[in-house]
Amino acid sequence: MKKNIIIILVDAFRRKNLSLYGYHKETDKNIKEIAKENLWFDNYFSASNSTAPALSSIFTGKYPNNHGVIHQLPYTKQEEIDKVQKVKFWFPEYLKNKGYETICVDWIGLWFKRGFNYYGEGENFDFKKSPAPFAPINEMTDLAISKIKENQNTDKSFFLFMHIWDTHFPFPNTKYESENNETDFQKTLENIKDESQREYLKKRIEGKKLYTIQDMINKYDTSIKDIDNEIKRIKEVLIEQNLWEDTILIIVGDHGTNLTEQGIYFSSSGLYEDSIHIPSVMHFPGLESKKITEFVQDIDIVPSILDYLQLETQEEFDGKSFLPLIKTNQPIRDKIFSFDGLCEDIKTVRTKNRKLILAKNNFCNLCKASHHEKIEEYDLEKDPEESINIYSGDSYLMKFLE
Ligand SMILES: [Zn+2]
Repeated sequence: MKKNIIIILVDAFRRKNLSLYGYHKETDKNIKEIAKENLWFDNYFSASNSTAPALSSIFTGKYPNNHGVIHQLPYTKQEEIDKVQKVKFWFPEYLKNKGYETICVDWIGLWFKRGFNYYGEGENFDFKKSPAPFAPINEMTDLAISKIKENQNTDKSFFLFMHIWDTHFPFPNTKYESENNETDFQKTLENIKDESQREYLKKRIEGKKLYTIQDMINKYDTSIKDIDNEIKRIKEVLIEQNLWEDTILIIVGDHGTNLTEQGIYFSSSGLYEDSIHIPSVMHFPGLESKKITEFVQDIDIVPSILDYLQLETQEEFDGKSFLPLIKTNQPIRDKIFSFDGLCEDIKTVRTKNRKLILAKNNFCNLCKASHHEKIEEYDLEKDPEESINIYSGDSYLMKFLE
């Protein structure tokens, strides 16, 4: 029997901008519908705040220190790339060896191409028409749908991986008209106290016709709505092609993003909650629908898929199958770990109520600022906004980071 797998990875995906997680605007009508009828995760965390390490974590089921890629491109060091290219287990390659048709709709390339029969690195896209170095979501969806239909002529199961970039600041493929003007932009910049953030924002959006913070938020919301509509198209094709009950569908962020929180403007730098605590919605045919509140991380996706499909491997993952959690509500982990891919050397360990962030080198390659003190600790129950550093020279969480 065919069992297909689709992973839709949404870049820089924020919990706070989805009504599923309490946002006042319904940007996510279709995603929410899939969530409510299937599985959705309230405490899902990425193992990194940036794409290259986080995606490597998904495909290996390992934390960044174990697969090698700690830093985001172009800050990834050569030894990190050498290490990840030698990992034994790489999900697309594993599936290809099991006879799956492996299809990628993305343009990142590099070591991520490993194991894909088809890698849509842009040859089908007309980049000249597109304002961004990646295709807009409707073109990516067209390509994905054509690949799903093409595969119907074979008796192979497929793995489709789609990486959606429309949500990536400053959202060049999203249509949005601002009513503001250049004077408003100057005011926006004046209101940013920190010089590095002011310069970073100026460099990123000058000439992009976004003039206020609200403009930028509105455009981000529009990009989510666009994605939400295309996800509906994919779901409809799966139903129409009689594939819905034979296809795992996973919709997750690769990492989150700060809009202005913690003084971080439109980037996922640092390891505060908005950078790593992200949306996660899944459809596993036959499993009961449920909201999962226990901890799950991106490294758990592959072990869970293998568990569900009863596929074997000798690999020892850092991640664990969350299927027992669905059946029994028993937690699979009491801590999450995450690594900063944009700053030089920052990592965090988080329990339900406590979070420790250790910055051995807090220089941010992206905006040249430092987003963290050397050591920060937060009581997330009393201080979910992470505003009061309670570190007092000692923390029981330190041993987990060392
Ligand atoms: Zn930064």
